[in-house]
Amino acid sequence: MNTSNFSISVKKITQSKLPNIDFSKLAFGHIFSDHMFVCDYKDGKWQNPRIEPYAPFLVAPSMSVFHYGQAVFEGMKAYKDDKGNVFLFRPTENYARMNKSCRRMAIPEFPEELFDQGLKTLVTLDKDWVQPGVGNSLYLRPFVIATSEGVQANPATEYRFMIITSPVQSYYTTKEVKVKIADHYSRAANGGFGFAKAAGNYAGQFYPTALAKEEGFQQIIWTDDATHELLEECGTMNVVFRIGNTLVSPPPTERILDGVTRKSVLAVADKLGIDFQSRPITVTELIEAAENGTLQEIFGCGTAAVISPVTAFNYKGKDYQLPTIEKSYASQIKEILINIQYNKAEDPFGWRVKI
Ligand SMILES: *Cc1c(COP(=O)(O)O)cnc(C)c1O
Repeated sequence: MNTSNFSISVKKITQSKLPNIDFSKLAFGHIFSDHMFVCDYKDGKWQNPRIEPYAPFLVAPSMSVFHYGQAVFEGMKAYKDDKGNVFLFRPTENYARMNKSCRRMAIPEFPEELFDQGLKTLVTLDKDWVQPGVGNSLYLRPFVIATSEGVQANPATEYRFMIITSPVQSYYTTKEVKVKIADHYSRAANGGFGFAKAAGNYAGQFYPTALAKEEGFQQIIWTDDATHELLEECGTMNVVFRIGNTLVSPPPTERILDGVTRKSVLAVADKLGIDFQSRPITVTELIEAAENGTLQEIFGCGTAAVISPVTAFNYKGKDYQLPTIEKSYASQIKEILINIQYNKAEDPFGWRVKI
């Protein structure tokens, strides 16, 4: 599909909602900016790319996504520096990953060039929604849903790709994050679609996570479905362990999502001269390290929180406390990533993309 001569039509709102927003009181992902990007798949092709005011739209109760869950999404952010320049972080990774998710869910791939154009046009139009200051950003949510009408269990023939955006803040909290290591439930299986950013992966995670919350844990560290021995992900984030002075993180497989943040943490660690091993790690190895005192850190990584340190974990009813560490690898790496994202430092990796 030739997208270079695609023209995206733009219908602007008559009055911005911006003056009514209290940016000091943002809950994650509840407020949406003025515009959204929309593109429909019909008659075998993506067509009619457009920007419209953010608004509800009318759908049929038989719409395919409601019944069979053909839906994928992405999560990205736009950042603003002190001069008012707006940046994306490694966006081509997200374009490519969305199409990887699409293929697995039998959804037609979306042209990456049009994704890029649509996203940049949208963020430029709503650039005042990107607040400056570290921690502030505009969360970008591209997604695709099956829109065909009818309840036959087949891949849909019509789809809608949309991008909606939401101003968010991340707070520096020092609160406890206790996690439970899964010994029964799993989020992904061999031959399944754990590697895809598919809506259904999240739906399946809510119930076990709610049970863990009742027991006093914030998240679950997911293990492989077959043996529950391999440590895989932390909630909806990739997971990294520090044993001695080595970082260990399970490599992406068909059960593990290939996170952009994880990849970036790996590259930054490498630059800092920290040994980073992308290899399978077992519960047995983790417990041993906790018991012999070599386990230093556990953290989750993902776009929303960048890096979230874990303070304690529980396995089969037994608690293990992590040490408090000054100048943790988590905090050092997080600071470098944030400085790149907010244009406060050189970007030796070429990750920052100015809009
Ligand atoms: C989105 C996601 C991640 C993190 O990916 P990033 O690209 O770093 O935001 C990790 N695990 C799962 C299951 C995810 O859905």
